[in-house]
Amino acid sequence: MVNSKHPFIPYGKQTIDEQDIQEVVKALKSDFLTTGPIVDLFEQRIAEYVGAKYAVAFSNGTAALHGACFAAGIRDGDEVITTPMTFAASANCVLYVGGIPIFADIDPKTYNIDPKEIRRKITSKTKAIIPVDYTGQPVNLEEIIKIAEENNLVVIEDAAHAIGATYKGKKIGSIADMTMFSFHPVKHITTGEGGIITTNNKLYYDKLKQFRSHGITRDKTLLKEYHGPWYYEMQFLGYNYRMTDIQAALGTSQLNKLDMFIEKRRKIVKQYNDAFRILDEVTIPFQSRDSKSSWHLYVLQLETEKLCCDRKEMFEALQKVGIGVNVHYIPVHYQPYYQKLGYRNGEYPISEEVYSKIITLPLFPGMVNEDVEYIIRNVKDLITKYSLKSNG
Ligand SMILES: *Cc1c(COP(=O)(O)O)cnc(C)c1O
Repeated sequence: MVNSKHPFIPYGKQTIDEQDIQEVVKALKSDFLTTGPIVDLFEQRIAEYVGAKYAVAFSNGTAALHGACFAAGIRDGDEVITTPMTFAASANCVLYVGGIPIFADIDPKTYNIDPKEIRRKITSKTKAIIPVDYTGQPVNLEEIIKIAEENNLVVIEDAAHAIGATYKGKKIGSIADMTMFSFHPVKHITTGEGGIITTNNKLYYDKLKQFRSHGITRDKTLLKEYHGPWYYEMQFLGYNYRMTDIQAALGTSQLNKLDMFIEKRRKIVKQYNDAFRILDEVTIPFQSRDSKSSWHLYVLQLETEKLCCDRKEMFEALQKVGIGVNVHYIPVHYQPYYQKLGYRNGEYPISEEVYSKIITLPLFPGMVNEDVEYIIRNVKDLITKYSLKSNG
């Protein structure tokens, strides 16, 4: 559908170099292909990076969230509060274990889950909260953890967007009971597919390790019996959600570059902000003083009442000139599957209004200055063209 001569710029993309490729080749030549010493090393390196005691790698971020819900003890009929302004996986993981996702609306400035709304949604069945660090901007963890402590809830932070982000000077990944990171190629660092849970809690750690491998353990401190060196026990129904050493080799190599990737993202965001701040027709992303975003996504809000077009026209016009815009997210309760479960439109008005106005611009470390300038020029031109001000 791209008509322009300009090469298409996707909204997000991995950055893989020769060193990454060499590390994967080394893993392919090693004795292990699946979960072995490189997965152990990757887990250790991620735990160190975020400042957590433990990390358990999974085949993808969604499997990791499934594991976290299981480890948190969420079972049939338990309610778990999350945001509608997220990818479906943040709520689907609750359904996997028989729980009920309860959506709490977002804050109109940060687009993150609003702690006041969380309080409003708590019942005697509430078991956990799954806040999402939307676009890499950490949620109000202090308030959310306070609510969790008062109500005896587990906090599973969906930080798929937020590796390398900080909250009050502390890295995301060491603060909530469990934190999930994703290594899908559009995220900060990639393993192809992959995810991880970090935690400081040994009980969660043991459960997560067992869950990702059929519910099986060989750990003598956990076995009920011991028949000999071959002996293992399957103690509950787990899955095969293991990461391979091939993936972990890529992840370990990528992790060396994470801080540099984030710096590049921050630089591009600054260029975008400087260009768009002055336009009345758009609102640039909110930046909290409490935290430092890791900038997974750059989301611009269109002030549609000041424009003669809607978001769809703007979206299509940008696509036409080769700019891979996107929308993050279609609120989860809009999905036909959730509608069938009984979730209704109109119940989360802020998420719904924000959804109708947002547009995601390309943001990834491999973007060159010419890409950024090309995007800025086109967005500005379109805003001028569609502005009610310039059209009288
Ligand atoms: C990417 C993402 C996930 C899921 O991660 P996968 O590794 O793709 O399974 C979950 N939540 C959010 C908010 C995400 O962006």
